[in-house]
Amino acid sequence: MSASSAAKLADDRATAAGGLSRKVVLQRVALYAPRQPIYQREVRGPWQDMRAALLFILAGFYLALPWVGWSGRQAVWFDVPGRKFYLFGLTFWPQDFIYLAGLLILAALSLFFFTNLAGRLWCGYACPQTVWTKFFMWIEWLVEGDRNRRIMLDRGPWNRARILRKATKHAAWLAFSCAVGVTFVGYFIPIRELLPRIASADLGGGEIVFVTIAWLALYFDAGFMREQICKYACPYARFQGAMFDRNTLSIFYDRTRGEPRGHRRRGADSSGLGSCVDCNLCVHVCPTGIDIRNGTQSECIGCAACIDACDQVMTEVGYPKGLIRYTTESALAGEEMSLLRPRVVAYGAVLTVVAGALAVGLARRAPLDVDVIRDRARLYRELSGGLVENVYTLKLMNKSQHEQTYFVSADAGFTLVAPPLVVVAPGEIKDVPVQVRANRRSLAATSTPLAFVVASVDADVSVTETGSFLAPASMVRANADKEETR
Ligand code: SF4
Ligand code: SF4
Repeated sequence: MSASSAAKLADDRATAAGGLSRKVVLQRVALYAPRQPIYQREVRGPWQDMRAALLFILAGFYLALPWVGWSGRQAVWFDVPGRKFYLFGLTFWPQDFIYLAGLLILAALSLFFFTNLAGRLWCGYACPQTVWTKFFMWIEWLVEGDRNRRIMLDRGPWNRARILRKATKHAAWLAFSCAVGVTFVGYFIPIRELLPRIASADLGGGEIVFVTIAWLALYFDAGFMREQICKYACPYARFQGAMFDRNTLSIFYDRTRGEPRGHRRRGADSSGLGSCVDCNLCVHVCPTGIDIRNGTQSECIGCAACIDACDQVMTEVGYPKGLIRYTTESALAGEEMSLLRPRVVAYGAVLTVVAGALAVGLARRAPLDVDVIRDRARLYRELSGGLVENVYTLKLMNKSQHEQTYFVSADAGFTLVAPPLVVVAPGEIKDVPVQVRANRRSLAATSTPLAFVVASVDADVSVTETGSFLAPASMVRANADKEETR
């Protein structure tokens, strides 16, 4: 039986069974709608000018940052093979995961705070997806022209002019995404090393794959996927609704003022119409192709292009601006606008506390870390003269930006058989093998706490790390017997 006849049979059975359940059984829900081309119209206005300035600043910051040096290395460098992350004067190690966790919590809280306060500010003004897609759109406008020209170009034949424009656009996209992708890799492989190695074709297999993925990912994302990523791949677009309330500042169409919408002639009686002249300009400038007049939608990235477009129209027809504007649901309903609400204050307070704790933690972070690892091959060694010896490896991590000389010492009663002065380069982890000896008479238990103190000779930094000193049970028993005899 073919699939279609099986479906028909199931359909008939469901109809016979009661009709209503038929649709429930057989309805297929499309989870993904293929992308329809959106020919966005360019618009100028205060919001778009501010947005463009911000996008240039953010993109410039991203592209320039890997070129900034700090103490002889790249200021921001994710050194994955070395398992270190350099952030200007700070070096983070895997042991500093707590700071990364704090940073992620801070980012999440900021998102909650700003979304609850003013909607999708991040999406519209700072998200890398928005930034790079906008640059790709600008390239498209430059090469193919504005909305109408692009529509005509795509509907026209594949003649020389169309091939030339399309080839130029894709070449420009590829060049731009190459610059952005290589810069991204430059955060992991120092960019001053990376570029000459790319120029001389001196990259390893893994590096070639990394560069290629970073390059082509942006080309396909910002060139072809665009708003599909926001619609289907971005989790934030899905859960932002939970952070909105009636007092969240967002972009709204003023339905009361705008409806009933309709075209009108200059000078003609329009007393039965609202302010919306139904020009569709707000739809044409929307990068996700939605109609804001249908209400708040998850596709809206809050770019404010529809505000600028509609304000232009309102000015042209002689109506007050602000038919589409930043406002709140409650203000639209005639209630008083209240931006500082308990939820915003609570998010703000938690955000401040976490940011403060993170700042204090970073400021008080010791630029030295010590791990004590005891020798597992031999728990202890009995020496002549009633001595017991334990062997350890001290892992000294110099997290500072300068070479440090450390003085290593142990608790009173223990003797360190090791060079007490150890020189460690900045950002280096040095393994220092040390033997510690103790007289059997001073040991009251088979395991005695032993503190190592590592102090910098060059800076006011010292770290105490505790290990345990092991002794044979026979020695400890002998000590106890002697005590009893006395
Ligand atoms: S731009 Fe303004 S006037 Fe034109 S359709 Fe949109 S809301 Fe109506
Ligand atoms: S509806 Fe307006 S604010 Fe939302 S994405 Fe479209 S143009 Fe931008």
